[in-house]
Amino acid sequence: MKSTIGEHLKTIAEALELAPIEEVLTWGMETYGANISLACSLGPEDLVLIHHIHTLNLPIKAFFLDTDLHFPETYELKEKIEEHYGFKLDVYNAHISLEEQNKIYGPSLFTNNPDHCCQIRKVEPLEHALHRLSAWMTGIRREQSPTRANTPIIQWDSRFNLIKINPLVNWTNEDIWSYIHSKSIPYNSLHDKNYPSIGCAPCTNPVSLGENSRSGRWQGFNKTECGLHQGENSYE
Ligand code: SF4
Repeated sequence: MKSTIGEHLKTIAEALELAPIEEVLTWGMETYGANISLACSLGPEDLVLIHHIHTLNLPIKAFFLDTDLHFPETYELKEKIEEHYGFKLDVYNAHISLEEQNKIYGPSLFTNNPDHCCQIRKVEPLEHALHRLSAWMTGIRREQSPTRANTPIIQWDSRFNLIKINPLVNWTNEDIWSYIHSKSIPYNSLHDKNYPSIGCAPCTNPVSLGENSRSGRWQGFNKTECGLHQGENSYE
């Protein structure tokens, strides 16, 4: 039997499903106040969200998981975005440095055991970032991959035990890029070099025409997610 909270969340999700993004963001802010934060990996979707948050003048915070393995272009973009919008991302790092990781597990943990590497450098820092929050916001879109196809606009994140808001679930790739270009939002220069989805440098390759946008991630592995978005698509 569904709980009252689950039913309540489902009702809100259904009401916001076709609402303009401004309404979703404002609802998130009014409902969760200082206890909501945007997970920002500096992907195009995150940039669209940051631009909206800035335009609406909403005091929503944003955090960046620094794995120490991002492309130089990603670190450059971080500086650029912070300067452009006049704010600083909250940065979360792994509990061990890359040097310590290499010493303990060898220099290629991302090749030998990417799940373990993601656990250390992404999932644990995310747990730290979400600690004490009531809700987090992401740039997930249904179109991005089969595993994201049924993502609700608002859900209960059973993996991390808080509300998860995905204001862009209905946006297409074209919607995202039209918006970025129309607002002259700075973006990662690697996107112009056939990198539609950009993660850590050792695990991201360019894709060929017609391939799924996330097919350049963890090539050669049966892995499509880093562990941040693997919860059930449910309301409770
Ligand atoms: S994406 Fe690759 S390098 Fe980054 S944390 Fe995961 S396995 Fe490690």
